[in-house]
Amino acid sequence: YPKGVQARAWVEVDLAALWANYRLLAGRAGGEVIPVLKADAYGHGALPLARFLEGKGVGRFAVATLEEGRRLREGGIKGEVLLLGSLHPLEAEEALRLGLVPTLSNLEAAEALSQRARALGLVPRAHLKVDTGMNRVGFPSEEAVSALRAVEALGVRVEGVYTHLATAGEDAAFVETQRRRFQEVRRALGEGYFYHLENSLGLLRHGATAGVRVGLALYGLVPGFGLRPILRILARPTLVKRLKAGDRVGYGGVYVARGGEWLATLPVGYADGLPWGAVRFVKGPDGRLLEVAGRISMDQTTVLLPGPVGLEAVFEVLSADFGPTGLLAWAEARGTLPYEVAVHLSRRLPRRYL
Ligand code: PLP
Repeated sequence: YPKGVQARAWVEVDLAALWANYRLLAGRAGGEVIPVLKADAYGHGALPLARFLEGKGVGRFAVATLEEGRRLREGGIKGEVLLLGSLHPLEAEEALRLGLVPTLSNLEAAEALSQRARALGLVPRAHLKVDTGMNRVGFPSEEAVSALRAVEALGVRVEGVYTHLATAGEDAAFVETQRRRFQEVRRALGEGYFYHLENSLGLLRHGATAGVRVGLALYGLVPGFGLRPILRILARPTLVKRLKAGDRVGYGGVYVARGGEWLATLPVGYADGLPWGAVRFVKGPDGRLLEVAGRISMDQTTVLLPGPVGLEAVFEVLSADFGPTGLLAWAEARGTLPYEVAVHLSRRLPRRYL
């Protein structure tokens, strides 16, 4: 077996597919896009992905938090790392020491950044967040000019200005409202800053009007645009057996055997990120869809087989596609977002980056 990967269950991430997604998105954006690697790259592994993309010449990444930025720096990432979460004044010194680029949403954070930079003899750099309609973070767009002047007067080098779309997948009219507000800000502030705006669905459904930050689409989790999911969960059975009529399987005993069916136990469960109640099928060694029997457990999943298989057989528990064993099907069955399922893919399984 490949070094570092257990025999029984593991995650595979296809870096060639990641790169194909990146190139497709960059092509649509008409230039470099910013990979959003927060929440451990939506469960895909921020550091290995950042290392791979940096090796391909990508020079700028985004994460949410200082800790996420620290992990990239400590892992040797040299490129620009933008912290999307609004900087807390107490984080200013650490952000400076690590050479991370914080987002400013208020003057308190700008003042702290400026003060700490002076004390450390470092240049404070930042991106300014402008609120164009989400009311979550950012200086109100009507106050963008005075905010920028105030931040620059503190000696902070503002390198970028950005906003975030609230309704890219849902309300095209509001996307236009936010874009118009951002355009007004841009006209008022003038060129000389890196302006960025669209996320995955903003880019794919509406096109790019400024720089683009992509998460979900980079991981291939948007159907219909030629993108491909990049992550699979594979497992070999730890037990294969034949059931007798009336045998009950798993917690609650909710699967009751007719008798004679074959059952495999796969060593993955909801602790590995399979959403409880939402995994109905697994792909068998020949690619056939197999039904999950009963409830999944924390560490195990039982599936019905057409016949016996050996313990070395490989099952695809999560497939890199948009079918019934893909991550979007899990999210839909669970009534949640693909984002939520992805960020809960657990770190327990060993990972192979191919
Ligand atoms: N930009 C910001 C500020 C975000 O918070 C996120 C993630 O939610 C993204 C970009 C990327 O969004 P998506 O994964 O939809 O491309």
